[in-house]
Amino acid sequence: MASAPSTDDMFDEFLTDRGHDVEEAGWEENYNKKQCPDCGGLHDSAATDCSVCGWSPA
Ligand SMILES: [Zn+2]
Repeated sequence: MASAPSTDDMFDEFLTDRGHDVEEAGWEENYNKKQCPDCGGLHDSAATDCSVCGWSPA
């Protein structure tokens, strides 16, 4: 195929680098915990908002 890297390949690598399925917008995931992207606080998978800083994905 063409010698130039395709943007599709780069996008695939980007998705792979994310390393996990994004099931709910916003939360980071860390060893079966949800991690607040704002303050980094860890919460269990049932969490719907951050009890540390009040952030929520909605
Ligand atoms: Zn937080």
